[in-house]
Amino acid sequence: MKLSPSLIPALISTAWAAAIPDTSDTSVAAFEDNHYDAVVVGGGPSGLAALSGLARVRRKVLLIDSGVYRNAPTRHMHDVLGFDGVTPAYFRWAARKQIEFYDTIQMTNGTVVSITAPDATINSNTTTPYFTVTTAFDGGSDATRNISARRIILGTGLRDLLSDTPGIRQNFGEGLYWCPWCDGHEHADQPFGVIGPLSSVPSNVREVSTLNKDIIVFVNGTDTEDNRKALDTASPGWQSLLQYRNITIENRTISAVVRLRDGSTANNGTNATAAALPSVEEYDLFRVDFEEGPSIERAAFILSIANEQASWVGRDMGVALYGEGRMYTDSNLLTNIKGVYAIGDANLDNSTNVPHAMYTGKRAAVNCHLDLAKEEASKDIYIEQLNSSSSGSTKRSVPPTPLDPRALWNVVNGDLDDVLFAGEYDQ
Ligand SMILES: Cc1cc2nc3c(=O)[nH]c(=O)nc-3n(C[C@H](O)[C@H](O)[C@H](O)COP(=O)(O)OP(=O)(O)OC[C@H]3O[C@@H](n4cnc5c(N)ncnc54)[C@H](O)[C@@H]3O)c2cc1C
Repeated sequence: MKLSPSLIPALISTAWAAAIPDTSDTSVAAFEDNHYDAVVVGGGPSGLAALSGLARVRRKVLLIDSGVYRNAPTRHMHDVLGFDGVTPAYFRWAARKQIEFYDTIQMTNGTVVSITAPDATINSNTTTPYFTVTTAFDGGSDATRNISARRIILGTGLRDLLSDTPGIRQNFGEGLYWCPWCDGHEHADQPFGVIGPLSSVPSNVREVSTLNKDIIVFVNGTDTEDNRKALDTASPGWQSLLQYRNITIENRTISAVVRLRDGSTANNGTNATAAALPSVEEYDLFRVDFEEGPSIERAAFILSIANEQASWVGRDMGVALYGEGRMYTDSNLLTNIKGVYAIGDANLDNSTNVPHAMYTGKRAAVNCHLDLAKEEASKDIYIEQLNSSSSGSTKRSVPPTPLDPRALWNVVNGDLDDVLFAGEYDQ
């Protein structure tokens, strides 16, 4: 699809993005043949990148997406080359529109409720081992359907665990942000707040040090003697950092964060939702109320928040969780379960942004394709061996397992009188 430059401002507006047609296909026809080279779980940037990589080498792949995107609360997505300042929905739509060009892939809405690994005793030379992916298509467990896949790519993302303090959840992503690269530039030089436990203060202050000078840190009752001692050990010099930057600590317990102005409409006379690329200031304004004493006004905040896996399908099928509950992977993005990859926010890289999600999706796609190709070559060799032994050829006996180095040596090495014969495997 070609985008006319005149269309772009309209495309990036929130209203337009919301009206974008869904390119998914949930029809039964889409599942006529239930066997896939891979199923990608999750249609965020990581899953879409994996799908794209596999589409380009004509792998038969199904992407299943439940549509709960981590960056859905934000107004615009930033720091993604070529897409700086568009809505997350526009980015996903543009990606889907391009990927759907490739006819070996399918995308559908649905929630994967469980994944069962293939029987470990299956001989992959004679039978294709398939994972069974059980998916709910209308959100109800009584409408599940089983799909078979040789490989699984989990791009299921993380869920932010927002505090119940009134105003935090309601305003998250719109003036209360979580990462300076995502939303900091839009609030630069504004009266600013850091909300989080005392332990999170030094790293948050450093992260916004080039964006905001007028900063108050709201530590919500965590400024205690014990916490100060612990921080002295963990982050020596933190007090000097705050003094040097003229930053005050507010320790009163927050009772509410109340929006006074919406930066998506009241930003210097411009409408931020129809933002010009790549960045436009957002003039939000909030009042922080405390259990006692006067309130304080601030234009924007960075929050320190915990998160967890958005889906437990990986863990439930045996994928090991690591560190702060992230799915374990090796450098090939492979989990501890053979044939299962974990990409994007959900894996242990501890890097949670769209470029990382796309990089890991692409990397997993390459490794997944090559792994499938190896399995296929191994099976071909096996069958060729079977055929030649049954037709009376003097070739060596059938390899016992795929990719066994000794077996492959026997196949490629030729016979004793062959010019390519390089001797026995054990030398
Ligand atoms: C408020 C906010 C703003 C942000 N802004 C930016 C930004 O400007 N720039 C940037 O680079 N990063 C930004 N990020 C980070 C970015 O959102 C993530 O790094 C990125 O979305 C990770 O992509 P992902 O594919 O791993 O996960 P996600 O985008 O979260 O996608 C996961 C997908 O998996 C689906 N899923 C989960 N479980 C299942 C299941 N069982 N079955 C089927 N589907 C399932 C979900 O529905 C979802 O669609 C922001 C984050 C937040 C919270």
